[in-house]
Amino acid sequence: MKAKVDKNKCIGCGACTSIASNVFEFDDDGLAKAVQEEVKEEDKESVKEAEESCPTGAVQVEE
Ligand code: SF4
Repeated sequence: MKAKVDKNKCIGCGACTSIASNVFEFDDDGLAKAVQEEVKEEDKESVKEAEESCPTGAVQVEE
């Protein structure tokens, strides 16, 4: 599973960074970025939850 953030869509709400803090962090520009491109097994569930919770669809997950 791979995780990415589309910064053109991100509004910096912080949902993904709090739900999946191992995978998403705020970048210097105040928007989220994925710090693990290849998501570890133990983080997959929270990444899916972050994808569902992102209000703008900026979290992109590929199986
Ligand atoms: S949940 Fe979506 S909009 Fe909010 S910080 Fe994460 S990527 Fe950005």
